[in-house]
Amino acid sequence: MAIAMRRILNTRTNTAHKPRDDGSHRTTACGSLVTATHDRTRVVSGEEVRTSAAIDRCGSCFEDVTGY
Ligand SMILES: [Zn+2]
Repeated sequence: MAIAMRRILNTRTNTAHKPRDDGSHRTTACGSLVTATHDRTRVVSGEEVRTSAAIDRCGSCFEDVTGY
């Protein structure tokens, strides 16, 4: 299965980011979590991000976030 629906959740801010496509799930597409410690991030599914009202989506990683 594709890994495209994997997201990185910063559990401190409840912000979801897209993972960079290099096999590392500690690096985001926008780079904002590079310095975050491992225990403050969690890999979640895109479905969970979409359905959870508590999770914000990073505006840099998710270009479709505008106006939602
Ligand atoms: Zn991001």
